[in-house]
Amino acid sequence: MEKRTELYRGKAKTVFTTDNPDLLILQFRNDTSAFDGEIIEQLDRKGIINNKFNHFIMSKLEQAGIATQLEELLADDEALVKKLDMIPVECVVRNRAAGSLVRRLGVEEGLVFESPTFEFFLKNDALHDPMVNEYHIQAFGWATQEQIARMKELSFQVNDVLKALFDQAGLLLVDFKLEFGVDSAGNIVLGDEFSPDGCRLWDKQTNQKMDKDRFRQGLGGVVEAYEEVAARLGVTL
Ligand code: ADP
Ligand code: UDP
Repeated sequence: MEKRTELYRGKAKTVFTTDNPDLLILQFRNDTSAFDGEIIEQLDRKGIINNKFNHFIMSKLEQAGIATQLEELLADDEALVKKLDMIPVECVVRNRAAGSLVRRLGVEEGLVFESPTFEFFLKNDALHDPMVNEYHIQAFGWATQEQIARMKELSFQVNDVLKALFDQAGLLLVDFKLEFGVDSAGNIVLGDEFSPDGCRLWDKQTNQKMDKDRFRQGLGGVVEAYEEVAARLGVTL
């Protein structure tokens, strides 16, 4: 699979086209950003960890019947994926209060909800990823009502599968972000990545943060925490 031209260089990944117009290569870099790209640092080994972690998680989701972009692992830091027409919103599911929800609603971090919540955010760094609702998504033509319903349904399915998976590894899945796209057949498919960069994971015993909040909050030991999570899940690095 020959890597052709660079299509897009994002904050954490570079996207390349391939000989096959339906397939792309995602290269996971060590760049780690916070606060919508305001802070960027290189964290040694992070690209490799996130690539392998993502491959492991998406394989588990495929096994559970959830359609993902997954094709194959190409290199330590590269994956071959289905090219999707990405819907420009982030889907966030939360099981407990943390991050922007704590700031927005003034509740205590760690508050356990009666049931999981769902939020859409527009992918737009310049606007700081504002929260949007289903009416905005339809009004601006980002997705149809059917596609919106499907993204929500799939996000909650992902939550069910991954909550159980992380629980077995002694970890609490606090919240996470997903990005979906449309494949050539018109189906909604999970794209982008699932890694500790885009979710919150706390140790079940100690509530220790094992995700990107270590970077955002300057707690140190970021890559070590990602490696610990991978080891507990049995991801081969
Ligand atoms: P950002 O764009 O937020 O800086 P990344 O550095 O992760 O994020 O860049 C990856 C880009 O590739 C994102 O814009 C994402 O929407 C896009 N992308 C991820 N998976 C796919 C896919 N399967 N097909 C097409 N585009 C994808
Ligand atoms: N998230 C993400 N990319 C973003 C914004 C959020 O991956 O651009 C993830 C984040 O890591 C967390 C979840 O989505 O797991 C919810 O994030 P939140 O809304 O609390 O925002 P934050 O406080 O992280 O900015």
